[in-house]
Amino acid sequence: MAEKLTWIDLELDALHQAGLYNNIRSLGSPQGAWLQVDGKKVLNFSSNNYVGLANHPRIKVAAQKAIDIYGVGPAAVRTIAGTMDLHVELDRRLAKFKGVESAITFQSGFTANLAVVPALVGKEDVIFSDELNHASIIDGCRLSRAKVIRYKHLSAEHLKEMLETHRKDYRRAMVITDGVFSMDGDVAPLDEIYEVSKEYDTILMVDDAHGEGVLGNGGRGIVDHFGLHGKIDVEVGTLSKAFGVVGGFVAGNPKIVEWLHQRGRPFLFSSAMTVPDVAACIEAVNILEESTELVDKLWANSDLFKKELKKMGFDTGKSMTPITPVILGEAELAQKFSKELYEAGVFGMAIGFPTVPRGTARIRVMISASHAADDLEFGLDAFEKVGKKLGVI
Ligand SMILES: *Cc1c(COP(=O)(O)O)cnc(C)c1O
Repeated sequence: MAEKLTWIDLELDALHQAGLYNNIRSLGSPQGAWLQVDGKKVLNFSSNNYVGLANHPRIKVAAQKAIDIYGVGPAAVRTIAGTMDLHVELDRRLAKFKGVESAITFQSGFTANLAVVPALVGKEDVIFSDELNHASIIDGCRLSRAKVIRYKHLSAEHLKEMLETHRKDYRRAMVITDGVFSMDGDVAPLDEIYEVSKEYDTILMVDDAHGEGVLGNGGRGIVDHFGLHGKIDVEVGTLSKAFGVVGGFVAGNPKIVEWLHQRGRPFLFSSAMTVPDVAACIEAVNILEESTELVDKLWANSDLFKKELKKMGFDTGKSMTPITPVILGEAELAQKFSKELYEAGVFGMAIGFPTVPRGTARIRVMISASHAADDLEFGLDAFEKVGKKLGVI
């Protein structure tokens, strides 16, 4: 009985030895600038709560009110009895926010990717995928059974070469890229990728998980940032990061959205988003539509934080977004740095191989609009103190 699972012990031991075992900390507080982590109050530099909506008072009220009217669970998939007026409203509001004709929501960004890729391409088709695309895109591609050809990170030039060589051998083609890459905070050159892909009769998809609520006017995302309205076939978004709730969506070409209502497997075979989640997301759209204040604050905070870290002599990589990697080198050093930060009252996670290439282990600082000026100063002081102590600066 035990024997058939011995391999798991061996694998887990290997993870421990390589320093890659996930020790999962639990929070005893809501998301915000400060967290209660394993009983200690620490400054939060680790969440995707970009504009501070995860514990926003208006969003909490919206979720509570919706529960009073609709209850909690949808009790069905969207195509059977799980579509409430609220779901339809969220789909419509997201389309309007994004400036597209149609949008369709899913239970998460992950399931949105699992829905859309296999719905659009199959065995006879090909996908051109940035080599650093997110795991959920990789899994969506695998489920589709299309041939996957990886192109060099951010390289529209290499993409063009690959399209030129391989496109003709397949029936349909997709080009897929993350919008913002979560480990470095760099941004796909979507304008160049669009120009290249349109020459080769391909469906273009961008996964804007870290750009939603961050890039573009008032957080309208990467398509807005590049002024490419109406040109991108599929924009995948998440409601789990800047939107502060949970869920995912596909915005874009209405024909594709209609097709996903018929053939998006997680839409057809997994239950709808819950009532409080949907109501909370609608209120998040309201807040983002009313004012760009939170998004502006996010950028002001991250610009300041990056500038000060650079001044101290830290390597913050090539980020173009509020994601601020502090690149340290070896995984051991990053782990040690993270521990020292925690002692100093700052929660910043160390990230090493295989999530990032060897020799580029880092602390990834996630700046939020919820950070006050004092919080940023506290964080900068901690980085300076630990950086000096460990001989990084
Ligand atoms: C976080 C992320 C997802 C997953 O989104 P969830 O809503 O958390 O499932 C998908 N794609 C990218 C690029 C992401 O960063």
